[in-house]
Amino acid sequence: MSKYVYGFGAGKADGDGSMKPLLGGKGANLAEMNKIGLPVPAGFTITTEVCTYYYDHERTYPPELKAEVAAAIKKVEETMGAKFGDDKNPLLLSCRSGSRESMPGMMDTVLNIGLNDTTVAALIKQSGNEHFAWDSYRRLIQMYGDVVLGLKPESKNDPDHFEEILDHVREKAGAEHEKDLSVAALKDIVVQFKEVIKKHAKQEFPSDPMEQLWGCVGAVFGSWMNDRALVYRRQYGIPHNWGTAVNVQAMVFGNLGDDCATGVGLTRNCSVGTPGFCGDYLINAQGEDVVAGTRTPLRVEETFGKDMPESFKQLTEIGKKLESHFKEVQDIEFTVQKGKVWMLQTRNAKRTGFAAVRIAVDLVNEGLIDEKTALQKRRIPADDLNQLLQPIFDPAGKKKAQAENRVLAKGINAGPGAATGQIVFHASDAEELWNKNNDVQLVLVRKETSPEDLRGMKVAKGILTAFGGASSHAALVSRQMGKTCVCGCSALNIDYEKGTITVGGTTLKEGDWISVDGFTGEVFAGKIETKPSEVMEVLLGKKKAEDAEMYARYAQLMTWADKYRKLKVRANAEAGDAIAAVALGAEGVGLCRTEHMFFDHLDEIREMIFATKLADREKALAKLLPFQRDDFTHLFKTMGDKPVTIRLLDPPLHEFLSEHHLHDDETLAPKLAKIFGVSVEQVHRRVDELKESNPMLGHRGCRLGIVYPEITAMQARAIIEAAANLKKEGINVHPEIMVPLAGYKAEFENQAKIIRDTAAAVCKEKGVEVEYTVGTMIEIPRAAITAGEIAESAQFFSFGTNDLTQTTLGISRDDYKSFIGDYMEKDIIPSDPFQTIDQPGVGKLMKIGVEGGRGTRKDLKIGICGEHGGDPKSVFFCHEIGLDYVSCSPRRIPIARLAAAQAALDK
Ligand code: ADP
Ligand code: MG
Ligand code: MG
Repeated sequence: MSKYVYGFGAGKADGDGSMKPLLGGKGANLAEMNKIGLPVPAGFTITTEVCTYYYDHERTYPPELKAEVAAAIKKVEETMGAKFGDDKNPLLLSCRSGSRESMPGMMDTVLNIGLNDTTVAALIKQSGNEHFAWDSYRRLIQMYGDVVLGLKPESKNDPDHFEEILDHVREKAGAEHEKDLSVAALKDIVVQFKEVIKKHAKQEFPSDPMEQLWGCVGAVFGSWMNDRALVYRRQYGIPHNWGTAVNVQAMVFGNLGDDCATGVGLTRNCSVGTPGFCGDYLINAQGEDVVAGTRTPLRVEETFGKDMPESFKQLTEIGKKLESHFKEVQDIEFTVQKGKVWMLQTRNAKRTGFAAVRIAVDLVNEGLIDEKTALQKRRIPADDLNQLLQPIFDPAGKKKAQAENRVLAKGINAGPGAATGQIVFHASDAEELWNKNNDVQLVLVRKETSPEDLRGMKVAKGILTAFGGASSHAALVSRQMGKTCVCGCSALNIDYEKGTITVGGTTLKEGDWISVDGFTGEVFAGKIETKPSEVMEVLLGKKKAEDAEMYARYAQLMTWADKYRKLKVRANAEAGDAIAAVALGAEGVGLCRTEHMFFDHLDEIREMIFATKLADREKALAKLLPFQRDDFTHLFKTMGDKPVTIRLLDPPLHEFLSEHHLHDDETLAPKLAKIFGVSVEQVHRRVDELKESNPMLGHRGCRLGIVYPEITAMQARAIIEAAANLKKEGINVHPEIMVPLAGYKAEFENQAKIIRDTAAAVCKEKGVEVEYTVGTMIEIPRAAITAGEIAESAQFFSFGTNDLTQTTLGISRDDYKSFIGDYMEKDIIPSDPFQTIDQPGVGKLMKIGVEGGRGTRKDLKIGICGEHGGDPKSVFFCHEIGLDYVSCSPRRIPIARLAAAQAALDK
């Protein structure tokens, strides 16, 4: 057996699907498809090790390679009954790249290798189809020129010599497409193409088939390090040292006539997840014609069955066989030659969050996989659940838009969701606008997208393209990013220069509003309001579960997730969000920010802050007490017997009263002056005193309660009174009272004593016992390091990872936006530390905190309540270090539940 070359064909293969690192994804699956008896043209794969060798040895090959390739070609010749370069019965080959992970659009394929003036004559004789032979030949010269000799234009401004000739010849002949050209015209093209190569590549088009093949192999390996590939790998974190494999394969022909076709497709709909093959095809066409956007493809699910009933049957069978073998939806490439379907590629399909959930659940219900498999994170990245919860168009708004004839056109529904935004035509403009204002709503409108547009696509709410089908770059990337996308909307006339879209009589300009419906493919002029998704509506009781197909799958999936996860999931919520939080699955409140309640009672809190005398402060606090008590009562009632963690007042006081507030509300200073019997100047002076130069590290957290113990006492009273009142009504609540920002055990104990004394007094007054605990946030490094001591008196911990990250890294969350982008681009830090826990740093402190805390108090309850609690990677980490629960914003609860299950199942 060869060392560097793995053959396949006629139902046998040297490799198999498990060998992706060595054979690349394409090569490994070509081998696997052979093994399960699917029709695959014979060929061989040159391993990724050769790529590594190539770059380690100044772009040369291992000495054995030549002979191994020659032997492999011989085998293909035997299988196919044709000979490479033969002047009677020539074998033609394709040369294709293939790395471990698919890199769409990164490296190009060369087809019809082996054609020259002699073999083309043989091909004519053999096929009896002159048009086909010359069409294939001109394609080879063009692809060879573009890919191997580097003539492919790099930007839109570079001349495309080959396309110019094609345009010219077509125009002269009055033909819409090459397939409509005469043989004479195709011959003329071949002559002209050869001249292009001579003139621009300064060499002859090589007529020796072996020279052609090695040229292509070299080009594939060379392309691994081209700029586009480098950028893409950086974007998706693919290591450069993986290398690419090269696949060489006997050609099958989709351009031999009207019983031939080329196509791509999915074994199920990967936008919404419904069963049934769907895809694009073109009759009498070759290779990437379908995705190139030059001819608008037909839909397999619509017309293929009528056009080619026998082939459709084969394709459907193949789809079933693939799914039952790979246990996954497949994304395939195929060619029909004289009615027979040949498989050229298969891989696990990218899909939207909707499709991911529906497909995983359906595969379980169809008996192909089990629950645990359905929950795998590579099947449903937890973040993707977001799409099920994302807004859709408000039906009334959409109806109105329809009634007002604002429907512009309909394209392919490639990425579900509803997006409304201002038109932007260039990805770079989108990025710039977004950098200025993160709230800007944009829809990126392009003829087609390419990898250069990635960053602009990321910041846009939706993507709309004029060309390309369900497998185009725009569709693929949107599916990956979970973006609303409509593609192939060919009615749109996009003029980049004028900055306009014209459809029929309507013209929209850059900056105008446009709305795209990623479920239906409809495009509307103007803005349409959005509203909650189906899943959200059922969860919030606004729609019946029986009427909701997607909800049914969601519910099934979440039952499985809840069955396997170890972490509990709570919400960061106040009274107002608690109902939604419970609907989304919250098992408690992990963080109730008491100050959020104060925003509704600004007058009283400002009075309290302004007061310099204890008696004045107590007077103001007495006014706040009933409001706080009511809020807690409301929250406790919603949560019932679920635990509720309440954090005492945390932010610096000037957040409620600052010069800026006085400025915004001119009546404020006179009002305070009157209440306290001071002058307006004195008000300004007092407010000035409250100002801090570094408020995040200033007088906040427990430092407030230590200086103003009456604040802590009031809050404790409000909590315990609410709990005591409810207990009398028979509702048993479990408040967990949490001290913020403690770094010293003494700080915590100071506050805990006030809380416990107050609680004892209230219980005595009310004549009931309330069960409560007192614990602390761990959010500054000192607290994590001295956790063992703090746990002597604290009954629970909750990691406040927002502040813990700020204080550990010394990076302010309010100011880091200006440099974090550069840090990530320059690989200084791997990801945004405020989104994903910095495990080696902040994470290490958390581990120290857990060990210290549990060292003192074995059953210490520990959670996390920073933003990280809803980030899947961080949830994995929390599982690993043995936390009891994560707490996150209500909308991320389903994500956290799924991520927690994935963490538990991931061994
Ligand atoms: P990509 O990775 O960009 O999809 P591929 O190597 O899969 O590139 O090739 C693109 C297309 O070229 C295939 O989908 C198929 O239509 C065509 N193709 C490749 N090899 C052959 C072949 N041996 N016979 C016929 N068509 C081929
Ligand atoms: Mg390609
Ligand atoms: Mg392909």
